[in-house]
Amino acid sequence: MPSSESKPQFDLKTPLQYLKGVGPERAKLLARLNLHTAQDTLFFFPRTYEDTTSVVPIAQLVPDTLTSVKGVVEEVESKNTSVGGSICGVLIRDQQHHLRAVWFNQPYMEKRFSPGQGVMLTGKVKNQGLMWEMSHPRVKWLTTPDETPPGEILPIYRLTEGIKQSEIRRSVAVAVDECVEMVEEVLPESVRQEYGLLPIRDAILSIHRPVDGEALQSARFRFVFQELLVLQLALAMQRHLSIHGKHAWPLPVNGRIDSRICRLFPFPLTDGQRQVIDEICSDMAAEVPMNRLLQGDVGSGKTVVAMYAMLLCVAHGCQASLMVPTEILCRQHCQTLGRALANARVTIAMITGGMSNSERKGVLQSIRDGEVDLVIGTHALLQEDVEFARLGLVIVDEQHRFGVRQRAQLRWSGPSPHYLVMTATPIPRTMAMTLFGDLDVSTLRDHPPGRQPVNTYLGTVEQREQWWEFFRRKLREGRQGYVITPLVDQSDHAHIVSLEQSFESLCNDELEEFRVDLVHGRLSTMEKQAAMDAFRSGETQVLVATSVVEVGVDIANATVMTIENGERFGLAQLHQLRGRVGRGTHPGYVCVFSPATEETQQRLNTFVSTSDGFELAEADFQMRGPGDLLGVKQHGLPPLRIADLCSDGAVLVKARTAAQEMINADPDLQAEPLAKLRRMVLLRYGNVLELGEVG
Ligand code: ADP
Ligand code: MG
Repeated sequence: MPSSESKPQFDLKTPLQYLKGVGPERAKLLARLNLHTAQDTLFFFPRTYEDTTSVVPIAQLVPDTLTSVKGVVEEVESKNTSVGGSICGVLIRDQQHHLRAVWFNQPYMEKRFSPGQGVMLTGKVKNQGLMWEMSHPRVKWLTTPDETPPGEILPIYRLTEGIKQSEIRRSVAVAVDECVEMVEEVLPESVRQEYGLLPIRDAILSIHRPVDGEALQSARFRFVFQELLVLQLALAMQRHLSIHGKHAWPLPVNGRIDSRICRLFPFPLTDGQRQVIDEICSDMAAEVPMNRLLQGDVGSGKTVVAMYAMLLCVAHGCQASLMVPTEILCRQHCQTLGRALANARVTIAMITGGMSNSERKGVLQSIRDGEVDLVIGTHALLQEDVEFARLGLVIVDEQHRFGVRQRAQLRWSGPSPHYLVMTATPIPRTMAMTLFGDLDVSTLRDHPPGRQPVNTYLGTVEQREQWWEFFRRKLREGRQGYVITPLVDQSDHAHIVSLEQSFESLCNDELEEFRVDLVHGRLSTMEKQAAMDAFRSGETQVLVATSVVEVGVDIANATVMTIENGERFGLAQLHQLRGRVGRGTHPGYVCVFSPATEETQQRLNTFVSTSDGFELAEADFQMRGPGDLLGVKQHGLPPLRIADLCSDGAVLVKARTAAQEMINADPDLQAEPLAKLRRMVLLRYGNVLELGEVG
């Protein structure tokens, strides 16, 4: 008789509480980390590791790596920051070299160190100017400065209240011991071979208890690749779906249409505009819908490209719609288009949230009847009662403001419209591949001729008076200016009050002799419009604003801008703001003020030192990670568990290639060896990316 001991007591799906040493109490805590079964636990990847296998001399540190260093404490200092926090800094010395460990808002750390003491610190090292720095390292206090603690690579897991690192480690270890042999491979053998990926069981073992750095790297590579492959497969499927079986109106351009459109612009197109227009025209001539992202720096002239595409669409008797993120922008586009089309037989309508019911009804009717050719609107375009008669083209301006889901929710009947999204927040390549994996990308790299440079300064408190003097001089010369103040929370009354106060103090002090107005998100549509119109006409000389002017506002005579509390803005946003000046024939000047902290200084210095939006986006991405840049969450994609879009770009490229090959060969992943992978793709992305028809 086979002994009952050889039969596994539980499998991957067994609730964790039955796992040896876990029990119902701890299982409840683990559930808070979304760990319910042994399987969950196996795939609960360490957040990072504590690597004490090799202590690196400070002289040989490599920036941005997780390392252990050993040294003697030389100095301990603690100070309060202007924003009400504290910084504790501990200087340690190893031979002739120093490293500073810092803790933010952990004042008690100060008492744990005393000069002369030996310590080992483990953490990510950064090169801060001439000094090495580790923030929030793990500390091992040594009994003598010469002690060499035995090394190992320990996993560090995400925690929740009530559970300790050592307890989580034990639970994971038990799950791994008991269940790793039951895990089945999800990747087809051929893919594993081609990309040199560890078998899944080996990878699980090594990710939780790596024997050395190399084993850890291989395990991590496997899971990063797998995660990105699943994402890229989902995107490739979505792309396939969006093209496959869909018909669009073919809207080819010809010489006559081209010259009729170009005649409407008061200037010749730039080479860059011509090139992206060619790309767009060749898409629009096809019977499958265009699916294209146009990225171009602030002020590169995307609106003209959009107008061209819309007019091409209208020339074929189809309707075109343009969706923009703010009412201000909506109105501005309407005015620009209205002016250009004054003598053309093209009708334009606008749809925004601020319309009266009866007004809205009338407009909707004429859109439904096909009387209106161009429809420009905000989110309000997505409402159910907006129906088009013959929609040929949808353009979304400043796409980063909208989510993935909002894309194709316009309503129409008949063939699918062509689709173009535009963004002035240049998207780092790895991000573009992820968020817009299903789009073709056109890039507008030049700027219209005669564009003046924008001079950017980082102002110190001492320079304030000097800057305002300069600002006033420009106003006296006939130019206009912006003063930008951050508004953290649009719904917070206190912030509005403080905004109004700073407005008043400007009016009474620095800008006393000028006509100043205020605009922010809490004003009614009418009030906002009135403020923008007055500024556009020159009646107002200075506009004090929150970042509502951030996107797209185009007022050529505005050339000076003061940005207060620059630290509150992301780099991309600052660049957008800067893009509001220097749009005409006069050079622009921007001065950013910000209370000095090291982190913000670094960021703001980057901003001041380059005017290239692509470079900035890349820097922002490196410094702050993808989340802040574009709001990945806002795009509706579930967060990545192990891959890091900043540092795993190379793996992403491989995964994308693999995914494309797989989908080209087998668009629905129907082949048997792909069954598990397919299930994984649908489970994770089926809903968000609306892959429903496949599943
Ligand atoms: P963005 O790409 O930021 O949306 P806009 O489309 O608002 O830029 O264009 C910025 C400014 O450049 C506008 O005032 C526009 O009229 C002008 N412009 C666009 N294309 C050209 C061109 N080919 N020649 C001269 N000026 C142009
Ligand atoms: Mg624009």
